[in-house]
Amino acid sequence: MKSWNKKKILEIDKKHIWHPYTQMKDYENRDPLVIVAANGCKLKTIDGDELYDSISSWWTTLHGHLHPKLNQAIMEQLKLLDHVNFSGYTHPYAVEVVERLKNFLPHTLSRFFFSDNGSTAVEVALKMAFQFWQNRGVNSKTRFVCLENAYHGDTLGAVSVGGVDLFFELYKPLLFKSFKAPSPYCYRCEEKEGFTLDANHECNLRCLDGLEKILNEHHEEICAVIVEPRLQGAGGILVYPAAYLKKLREITEQFKVFLIFDEVATGFGRTGTMFAFEQAGIAPDIICLAKGLTGGYLPMALTVTTEEIYQAFYADYLEGKTFYHGHTYTANPICCAVAAASLKLFAEEEPLVKTKEAREYFHQLLLDTFSDKPYVGDIRYIGYVGAIELVRDKKTKEPFSEELRLGFNIYMKSLEKGVVLRPLGDVIYWFLPLCISKTEVEEILKIS
Ligand code: PLP
Repeated sequence: MKSWNKKKILEIDKKHIWHPYTQMKDYENRDPLVIVAANGCKLKTIDGDELYDSISSWWTTLHGHLHPKLNQAIMEQLKLLDHVNFSGYTHPYAVEVVERLKNFLPHTLSRFFFSDNGSTAVEVALKMAFQFWQNRGVNSKTRFVCLENAYHGDTLGAVSVGGVDLFFELYKPLLFKSFKAPSPYCYRCEEKEGFTLDANHECNLRCLDGLEKILNEHHEEICAVIVEPRLQGAGGILVYPAAYLKKLREITEQFKVFLIFDEVATGFGRTGTMFAFEQAGIAPDIICLAKGLTGGYLPMALTVTTEEIYQAFYADYLEGKTFYHGHTYTANPICCAVAAASLKLFAEEEPLVKTKEAREYFHQLLLDTFSDKPYVGDIRYIGYVGAIELVRDKKTKEPFSEELRLGFNIYMKSLEKGVVLRPLGDVIYWFLPLCISKTEVEEILKIS
């Protein structure tokens, strides 16, 4: 085993490194965790402690850390091609990803644009939807509809369609204006009482009224609606009914507005089906994929769209319809190799079938563990994702005050006990890998 100097690592880190989503002053009183290894569902610290990675390293890991077949795919790729630009060149590794992914997508989604991460996949989708209408000569359709509590990434376009004020409020002067429709936040829905559970409860979809009204009044200005299907992630793991998506598809078609599904977090089995939108029996016009695309190994993203959208860009060069967008590492062959290996695992080993029992057990255990707890206002779950929302008063749903830093304190406590939880305010959540076993589910919930 390699040996490290922990003191020196922390010293240099604190002196020079600026971490994401981190108030660096917090590190005056505590150190960041130093992780040196991982295996399966666990991370290993420099002190030799093992921790359950119950958030799948920011929602990426699917088949577990260091899966032998994914490791092998990278090793094999390193004998052949590390990188080449993707403009004017192609390679079999990108083609294999597309070939394999096509099998899991509706045939209407047939054009694949590679990029680097979730935010860029969203930027690409927004620009495609916008430029489609410009290329078609419809210059009025320039605006987007998004949801309150939405999170689509941290680049400025993605932030412009975001709805988490805590993250985005400050940047407002830099953003383009989008229409914000109500969030499908079932627990705080005035029409409903009690737990959200898996959000398949009877529902009149009142929360769609606001969105429908916006489209009714402004559809001539609107090019697309963007949503995270089946659950709003960073906005608080807000699970909502599949029927919402079905109706949303109907409304967007009625008003001739594109529907973009951001499956960056929900894609690749996390909600129990390969893609969350499948549960509604519909298809979007554009889908954004990243995170789990490479099984959680390397940064790569895809924006997949329809032939109709693609064709609006297909013209003689001088017509000015080219999509001027690209990133240096577009379709990097090593990323493609591991993505193809992950998709091959889905086809050959069917992890969603294999661990069906484990995820159902996870749901049941969430209910058994938390239903009677005094401060658990809501329990929500779907596939490998579960969350509890903590409230001061279960009856009134009054939240705790921010000063308590309740989520943060729970995070620190659970670390001591061997589980990595990274709460969203007062929402504690689990984003489990697809390889999870019943025993691991039990252990994670016992010590969370
Ligand atoms: N879209 C969704 C739904 C996400 O959850 C995230 C990240 O959490 C993103 C986009 C942005 O992805 P990235 O962090 O890779 O830019």
